[in-house]
Amino acid sequence: MTDSEVYDVVVVGAGLAGLAAARELAANGHQVVILEARDRVGGRTLNESIGDGNVVEVGGQWVGPTQERVLALIDELGLSTHDTFNDGWAQVEFGGRTKRYRGTIPPLRPMVLADVAQAQLRLDRMARTVPLDAPWTAARASLWDAQTFDSWLRRNVRTTGARDVCTLVCQAVFAAEPADISLLHFLFYLHSGGGINRLISTVDGAQQWRVVGGSQRIAQRMAQDLGSAVQLSTPVRRIATTDHGVTVISDRVTARAQAVIVAIPPTLTSRISYDPPLPGHRDQLAQRYIQGSVVKRMAVYSEPFWRRDGLNGQATSDVGPVKLCYDNSPPDGSKGVLLGFLEAGHARRLGQLPAAQRRAEVLACFTRHFGPAAADPEQFVEKDWSQEQWSRGCYGGYLPPGSWTAYRDTVRVPIGRIHWAGAESATVWNGYMDGAITSGERAAAEVQTLLGARLIRG
Ligand SMILES: Cc1cc2nc3c(=O)[nH]c(=O)nc-3n(C[C@H](O)[C@H](O)[C@H](O)COP(=O)(O)OP(=O)(O)OC[C@H]3O[C@@H](n4cnc5c(N)ncnc54)[C@H](O)[C@@H]3O)c2cc1C
Repeated sequence: MTDSEVYDVVVVGAGLAGLAAARELAANGHQVVILEARDRVGGRTLNESIGDGNVVEVGGQWVGPTQERVLALIDELGLSTHDTFNDGWAQVEFGGRTKRYRGTIPPLRPMVLADVAQAQLRLDRMARTVPLDAPWTAARASLWDAQTFDSWLRRNVRTTGARDVCTLVCQAVFAAEPADISLLHFLFYLHSGGGINRLISTVDGAQQWRVVGGSQRIAQRMAQDLGSAVQLSTPVRRIATTDHGVTVISDRVTARAQAVIVAIPPTLTSRISYDPPLPGHRDQLAQRYIQGSVVKRMAVYSEPFWRRDGLNGQATSDVGPVKLCYDNSPPDGSKGVLLGFLEAGHARRLGQLPAAQRRAEVLACFTRHFGPAAADPEQFVEKDWSQEQWSRGCYGGYLPPGSWTAYRDTVRVPIGRIHWAGAESATVWNGYMDGAITSGERAAAEVQTLLGARLIRG
């Protein structure tokens, strides 16, 4: 690419959203270029080799029922899925005791279970009243956006045990503490993903399937088809717009086009400078989008030894610092992989510790759940997404109180020739790979309308 080369559209970011946008535009005959800051595609999806041809994903990995777009794309790209390992006993460490169980309901005290069930029923019912394309228009939007999820829990959930379970759900789904997040955002997200059970479950839920060969292959396959349109190691620093077009200035190249699609997390959009500057409300929204805090850690063993004890590798804990564990072994079980999430407060604390101390704390959790064999893995893989310059946290961005009602649809509304994509701008499966893909396709459709109008006007 030379400095003078002109495109129809520039896309910033080669995550799933940017690639899906570019794929759609290219398929419709438009000249498109993607400028990606990292030296790889996939953004928040990333495969890591654990040897012998096996990979684990240190970013987004699972897909599940109702995620129609990502499932269709996996198929279109010639990829396939396999089940998350789920055979055997799960464990719950709660209130100082550890119990085994099968099915979806953990063996907690009946009073706690009843309290959790009631809270879930109410939250799911409230969530269904939040319009996905306009959460601020919900009948109780101003009330819900004026409080955090924590405020709601304190007022509406009686037992400490049930509040702890709800806290765990918030940490697991948002990588945020209940005190961080607007109740309205919490409810919008529940509705967007189809309710609490769908969001947290391995069976009939968002954790049901994994992509054979790792989820980053979705991005890699799309990038392969786009060929030289994908420019790596090209961080975009400045976007200038005029009545006639956009100029996108990166560290390596300058690209001119009719429109730009910025397909990066909202908080990172304000780290690019704009000429003219973005309107105040768009920048202020970006100031409010908080990236969650997640460290994903995996210990790799010669075999999934816990399966011999009838365990399925899933564990939930109110102690932590690892609060959720999964069996993330390759489908043929040729190696054993225990996956542990550090989320929200635990991720923030452990992220600042030396790696050896973090490793010791994580392995102590695995050993508590799966026995002494867990103490000595062959490999230990970890990724702290808040340390990543081009993500600055994960799984995605969430909003604190007062933001949805003040800034409404700002996350999606184009500013002249600047269009926005990314998982945070999706209406369905917001924050997930599925939402990232649909957001890219939605932005591509917007830009095609713009290009079409221009062609008609000559
Ligand atoms: C640990 C973890 C677990 C997750 N688990 C799941 C899961 O199981 N299932 C699921 O569906 N989702 C999961 N997610 C979320 C999912 O991965 C994301 O929602 C999705 O990948 C986001 O895609 P995106 O294209 O919107 O953004 P990104 O993937 O963030 O892509 C943005 C791209 O833009 C680039 N970029 C940023 N700034 C610039 C710049 N100035 N110039 C040029 N390029 C720039 C970045 O490098 C990046 O490649 C998880 C995420 C993480 C991190």
